[in-house]
Amino acid sequence: KISTAPPVIRQLDDAAINRIAAGEVVERPASAVKELVENALDAGANRIDIAIADGGKTLIRVADDGCGIRADQLPLALSRHATSKIDGSDLLDIHSFGFRGEALPSLGAVGRLTITSRVSGQDAAQIAVSGGQMGPVKPAALTGGTVVELRDLFFATPARLKFLRTDRAEMQAISDTIKRLAMAEPFVGFTLRDVSGGGEGRVTFRADPETGDLFDALHGRLARVLGAEFAENALKINAEREGFLLTGYAALPTYSRGSAIAQYLFVNGRPVRDKLLVGALRGAFHDFLSRDRHPAAALFVECDPHLVDVNVHPAKSEVRFRDPGVVRGLIVSALRHALADAGHRASSTVAG
Ligand code: ADP
Ligand code: MG
Repeated sequence: KISTAPPVIRQLDDAAINRIAAGEVVERPASAVKELVENALDAGANRIDIAIADGGKTLIRVADDGCGIRADQLPLALSRHATSKIDGSDLLDIHSFGFRGEALPSLGAVGRLTITSRVSGQDAAQIAVSGGQMGPVKPAALTGGTVVELRDLFFATPARLKFLRTDRAEMQAISDTIKRLAMAEPFVGFTLRDVSGGGEGRVTFRADPETGDLFDALHGRLARVLGAEFAENALKINAEREGFLLTGYAALPTYSRGSAIAQYLFVNGRPVRDKLLVGALRGAFHDFLSRDRHPAAALFVECDPHLVDVNVHPAKSEVRFRDPGVVRGLIVSALRHALADAGHRASSTVAG
């Protein structure tokens, strides 16, 4: 056997590290939109306007009226593992969507990213990063908040570009992402605009900020996002068990669907696709629906952040509960009660 020289171990440079991270965080245009809109929500925005061209492949622009980023902090916002949201001491104490400080550097590594921002009482400033190369902070014009513009997503990683679907399919995924976030934030206004080909574009989704108490606001927002028919058939859910709060609306069995498409689940305001929650929803409706029908619902589980680990994976919307049995029991019993109540009301109406 001929012995060969051992391979040399090299430290990768930041641009390469960020491109690798981007592969995990940014799967497709919709994941970039999710990161940018979540940043706007974390910044306390009341209005978020999203413009998309060519399914997000050539342009994603997210404008918010949130707190803004100080000019001297713009380079840090684009640096890896730099975040204003946690101090790293307690990874289970998370109250924001973001906390990893990975989204902006990742997006700047695989596309051309420009951030323009203005903090109240200060001058607006701008920074650009393209394929991982960061430019200087420059003066800019903006009345307030932050505008993040991402052009030519994946131009620096052509292999990823090849895996994207049609503009139409990517736009659909973006629209679904916005609608989920809009359900979780009924007091925030959203617009989604398709600006393919330039110009003002066409509004494809709009939800004005809702008013009233949380249930009124949520009901209004669900009518906007899921349609009036869902809202008319929706039962209010409001229950609590051992530190877990369950709120939201579930539709009567008569409004069930042929697939699980109308199931929207949130944990501490975060859209999730979680087996435990989906299973609990299914279990609650078990006696009311045949096997091929699926309940429609928008349910929100709220708890102390220490009772749930959201740190499972950046892009996959998984969570892990400290006590899954309690959460399952809460969902099943709350939904069964609501369904039984609705049944009583329906039969008493018929009776008299
Ligand atoms: P994370 O959200 O995990 O902190 P990001 O890379 O998404 O990491 O953003 C880095 C930092 O930039 C954030 O912690 C925040 O301070 C700032 N930032 C990003 N987007 C916005 C925005 N729209 N408004 C205000 N600050 C922002
Ligand atoms: Mg973020």
